Amino acid sequence: ALKTGIVGLPNVGKSTLFNALMQESQAQAANFPFCTIEPNTGVVAVPDPKLKVLADINNSRKTVPTSLSFVDIAGLVAGASKGEGLGNQFLANIRECDAIVHVVRCFEDENIVHVSGSVDALRDIEVISLELALSDLAQVERRLQRASKDIKSGKTKAEEMSALEKLRVVLDEGRPARQAELTQEEWSTVQSLGLLSAKPVIYAANVQDSDLAGGNAMVEDVRKHAESEGASVVVVSAQVESELVDLDNDERTSFLEELGVARGETGLEKLIAQVYKLLDLRTYYTSGETETKAWTIKKGMLAPQAAGVIHSDFEKGFIKAETVAYDDLVAAGSMKAAKEAGMVRAEGKEYEVQEGDVLLFRFNV
Ligand code: GDP
Repeated sequence: ALKTGIVGLPNVGKSTLFNALMQESQAQAANFPFCTIEPNTGVVAVPDPKLKVLADINNSRKTVPTSLSFVDIAGLVAGASKGEGLGNQFLANIRECDAIVHVVRCFEDENIVHVSGSVDALRDIEVISLELALSDLAQVERRLQRASKDIKSGKTKAEEMSALEKLRVVLDEGRPARQAELTQEEWSTVQSLGLLSAKPVIYAANVQDSDLAGGNAMVEDVRKHAESEGASVVVVSAQVESELVDLDNDERTSFLEELGVARGETGLEKLIAQVYKLLDLRTYYTSGETETKAWTIKKGMLAPQAAGVIHSDFEKGFIKAETVAYDDLVAAGSMKAAKEAGMVRAEGKEYEVQEGDVLLFRFNV
């Protein structure tokens, strides 16, 4: 599963949010086969109302949601890139992630110590961003040294040199690598560096319950900052989320109403949806009597690659994918009716799988 790292300074609410995500996932998906892998890594079910609709149409015995994995990366502090507070280890954990949720403390609570002595959302963002950029700068400089030796022998491509040079300038100013203007080809030469500050980020503004509906001045600061980076913001209250997990649907509605929040998506659902968007992910379905199951793919994946998400044999032996769009199937009411109406297509190796496709793969074993 794709992995999202939850980062932020100590005492901003990371663990509270992480634990709420894990508990919610277990509560929502009774037959979800896996939960916490390691103490700080967990797999969450992606909530999806289409699963039940498809299961009803095809008389499936069960539904299996698709999943994302989250890692609670504790312990980032100022100086982490220089090894402060086990910093290097935490930075290595981030390197393995596909995306970052940066939790920012936007609540005051004198009982909860802030590492810098006061609550200041923008300063906190700067501290973390700077550590990521400095860690990347060290990485880029190491690579540059090696690359400049190898350029004469032709082992280093010109694109890689120019990519590294551009990155050094941006990182040296303490700005994130994602702001460097590299061509597609330049980016691909530095992919293997796993630059932390090149990873897509969502800011989770963690507010106290009374600010969940209206936000506050710090949330506005975070929004402005995120906008300047082209990043998105989700306002959550980690505390509220951790209380919601124990409530049933009616209780949730009235609890949220008391806080002035209309019952829509919970903060956790919003967060999961944003990660999906950030990573440009798509969902397709397989559906039969045994089960209806959702699968995650990257935008642009062709049918054989999408099949490979289920099993590598499906990709190797791919023949075709019987394909029907979710909306068409729902409108037809049954697979049989959809076939009779000509809505089920046989798609080949060049087909780009679309959001909501319901697929049946034919393959050679
Ligand atoms: P972490 O160090 O970032 O993982 O922070 P924790 O999740 O352990 O939270 C630190 C403390 O802040 C705990 O005592 C939490 O209960 C508290 N906390 C977390 N979120 C909120 C919030 O939204 N409002 C308030 N008042 N306290 C919170």
